[in-house]
Amino acid sequence: MSQPTLLKIYQSLLSAFGPQHWWPANTAEEVIFGAILAQNTTWENAKRAIAALKNTENLSFKKIPTINLEELADLIKSARFLNQKAKALKAVADYLGNTYNFDIEKMKKKPLGKLREELLNLYRIGPETADSILLYALEKPIFVIDAYTKRMFSQHGFMKSDDSYEAYQKFFMDNLPHNVQVYNEFHALIVHTGYLYCKPKPLCEECPLSHF
Ligand code: SF4
Repeated sequence: MSQPTLLKIYQSLLSAFGPQHWWPANTAEEVIFGAILAQNTTWENAKRAIAALKNTENLSFKKIPTINLEELADLIKSARFLNQKAKALKAVADYLGNTYNFDIEKMKKKPLGKLREELLNLYRIGPETADSILLYALEKPIFVIDAYTKRMFSQHGFMKSDDSYEAYQKFFMDNLPHNVQVYNEFHALIVHTGYLYCKPKPLCEECPLSHF
């Protein structure tokens, strides 16, 4: 695939759906909560957990160490895998407190590669969550790969469905300008298209990418 083809796909999705305004959060800190709470569940479930934290004034990593694990798990119960996610939030809170004194702006000053390594060392943070945090919370130029991306781009024959996360990421980053806004919007558009059309049984006739 050439760079113009990938950009054409991006433009087709953008003109079909318009800007997606991701990430749907008020602050960088909220994006990090969302990236963890949305793992292996729907965004609706994650949103309910975020609302529960907000309503109890606990949507802050400074507050997380003051809540015990059981209380935290109960607050986020709508997001599934509550015990694991409660532990993950506590691990991120410890990391942010110990390394950055809870200052996200200080965190943003560190190079992308170093931050990615730090995030991947944390409990239950895999490449998709780490890259979502890097792109959407810290505005670093890295492309996020998810299951929809793999399904769509393998269906069109650009990649194989069992290619690694890293291979997919390299494919996008080699063929797109290194631009945070493009990465932000393109991933959001892929998720939107995947949710609406690129289901296990794809609805290709209605999809804006049918001619690709
Ligand atoms: S629904 Fe069909 S046309 Fe749309 S991205 Fe999936 S495979 Fe491609």
